Amino acid sequence: MRRADDPGSLRVSRHLGLDLGATNLKWAVLERREAGWETVARDQRPTRIADDPGLAPEGIVAQLGEVAAELAASSGPLASVGVGVPGVYDPETGTAVDLINLPGAWAGVAIAAPVASAAGAPTAVVNDARAFGLAELRLGAGAEAGVRTLIGLTLGTGVGGVIIVDGRVLEGHDGSAGELGHQTIDPDGPWCGCGNRGCVEAYARADQIAAACRTASVEAAVRAAEAGDPVALAGLAEVGRYLGIGIANAITLLTPERVVIGGGVAAAGDHLFGPIRAELERRVTMTNLRRVALVPATLGIWAGAIGAALHGAERAGFAPPPSPSSAASGIAVGASEAGQ
Ligand SMILES: [Zn+2]
Repeated sequence: MRRADDPGSLRVSRHLGLDLGATNLKWAVLERREAGWETVARDQRPTRIADDPGLAPEGIVAQLGEVAAELAASSGPLASVGVGVPGVYDPETGTAVDLINLPGAWAGVAIAAPVASAAGAPTAVVNDARAFGLAELRLGAGAEAGVRTLIGLTLGTGVGGVIIVDGRVLEGHDGSAGELGHQTIDPDGPWCGCGNRGCVEAYARADQIAAACRTASVEAAVRAAEAGDPVALAGLAEVGRYLGIGIANAITLLTPERVVIGGGVAAAGDHLFGPIRAELERRVTMTNLRRVALVPATLGIWAGAIGAALHGAERAGFAPPPSPSSAASGIAVGASEAGQ
C-alpha cells in the first residue's frame, strides 16, 4: 500500500502551523508518525504590528516568513505549512481578503506564497476558527471513533465557527463556510461588526458577555459566576440562551455528533453549558439530542496552531494517521489551558 514517493505514506514528516492573532503569533510543529500526530515544538511571540497601519500587512507577513524559516532550520525540513488567519481569505491563492481584527489594508495581500518560499514547503491558508475545529476533531474534543460531523464555536473577541462534515472541514466555495457566529437569531437585534443585525456574535462576543454579567472582562465574569454572583449567573444564562438558539439551528441543519465550545468563557462550564442545553431541549425537535454531545474544547490556546498544521499537511496530501487515540502522546495540550 505504501510507496516511498507517496506523501500519504507513514514516514515521519514535520508540519508547521502558524496561528496569526491580533496580539500573538503562535506556532506548533507536528510530527506525523505511524502512531499518530505528535506536537514536538510550540511557542508564541507578540504579533509584529507596525506603528503605521499602512505597513502592518507587510511587517506581519515578513514575521510569518521569519518564524517559518527559523523553524525549518531548527526542527529540520518542513513537509508543509498551514497559516491560520483571523478572517476571510482566498483558499485557492492563499491571499487575504479581509482580516478585520488586524490593522492595515489586507485585501489581496499574499500570505501563502511568501511563507512557502521562506519555509521551503507548500503552504496553505485557513481561517483560524476552522483550524480550531480541525484540531479538536483530530486531536481534541472530537477525537473519538464515530465522530464524523462536528460543529464548533470559539468565543473570543468575536465568535468564530466551524462545520466539519464527514471528517472534512467545510470551507465553501470562497473559504467562508462555517460562520456560525454570523447567523441571524434576532431580525431586530443589535448591530454586529459584520454589518448585519441580530447575529449570534452580537450577543456572545467577549465584550457582550462581560456587559451581560456586569463585569470588566470574560475572565471576571467566569470568576463571579463561580462565586455564585446572581448577576453574572443571569448574564451567562442570557448569553447561553442566544448561543443555544444558534446552536439549535446548526444541529437541526447538520445533525453533528459533537458540538465543541472553545474560548475563555468555556471555563464557566455548566454556568454556560446548562443554559445552552436547556435552549437545545426547547428548540431541537427533529434531531435526536441524545446523540449530540455538547462539550468544551480540550486543546486550549494551541488549537489554532495545531489545526493550521493539520490543514497544511492535509492540503499537501498527507492523510491523517489512523489512530486518533494517539492524541495523548507528545506535549500535553490539556484542558487546564482551555481558559487561557
Ligand atoms: Zn455578524
